[in-house]
Amino acid sequence: MKKGKKLYEGKAKIIFATIDKNTVIQHFKDDATAFNNQKKSNIEGKGILNNRISEHLLKSLAEIGIRNHLIKRLNMREQLVEFVNIIPIEFVIRNIATGSLTKRLGIEEGTILDKPLIEYCLKNDQLGDPIVSREHILNFNWLNIIELDLINKQCLRINDFLQGLFRAVGIKLVDFKVEFGKTKLNEKIILADEISPDTCRLWDQQTEKKLDKDRFRKNLGYVVDAYQEVAKRLGILHEQSNIRPVKFSKPTAVKIKRNK
Ligand code: UDP
Repeated sequence: MKKGKKLYEGKAKIIFATIDKNTVIQHFKDDATAFNNQKKSNIEGKGILNNRISEHLLKSLAEIGIRNHLIKRLNMREQLVEFVNIIPIEFVIRNIATGSLTKRLGIEEGTILDKPLIEYCLKNDQLGDPIVSREHILNFNWLNIIELDLINKQCLRINDFLQGLFRAVGIKLVDFKVEFGKTKLNEKIILADEISPDTCRLWDQQTEKKLDKDRFRKNLGYVVDAYQEVAKRLGILHEQSNIRPVKFSKPTAVKIKRNK
């Protein structure tokens, strides 16, 4: 597939045109950002792993009838995807309270929610992706009620399915973010963007060790090792060759000398 001009560059991905106006190439970078771009780094190998993990999850979702933009993975870092107009809302689905939910509402970290909670954030970096209500979405016509209800239902199905998929490999799906878009072809709403350890919180079932981007946000180290662990458990690392085979070891304690 011949790569055309760059259409858009985001924090972790680049979108390139193709000769077909209904498809684009999604390229996964190694760049990592957090806290609304205030923390930045380059994590070697992250893009390759996210490409593979997201491919696996979107393919699996397509098999249960969740239509999404993925057409096929092209190489280590790129996917051919349907060209969509991204809906300017981030849909966050939570099973266990952590992150901004605990800070905003004082809910205790680790609280298991009685049922999945869907939150909406406006995609606007300048405003820091503020949380918005269902009424905001309808009032400002970001979506109509039929579209919003359809997306809500899809979010719950995606959550159900992914929770089971991760549970089977000893991982708790704590929360995640998804984005939807309208196809250029016929304005149909489909799941887009990516689902990866960059966009999910994944905890090891037994130890609750973080296997996601919180390792970067909280300076826990071993970011790629954690992503690699997720890929390994999902059984998608077999044809990998140039990702270093590292052990997911514990950080070593450092002794600090104090002047007496
Ligand atoms: N998330 C994301 N992109 C964002 C904001 C959040 O992928 O711009 C994901 C995040 O990785 C987590 C979930 O959405 O899995 C909920 O994040 P939260 O609202 O707690 O925000 P954070 O604590 O990351 O600021």
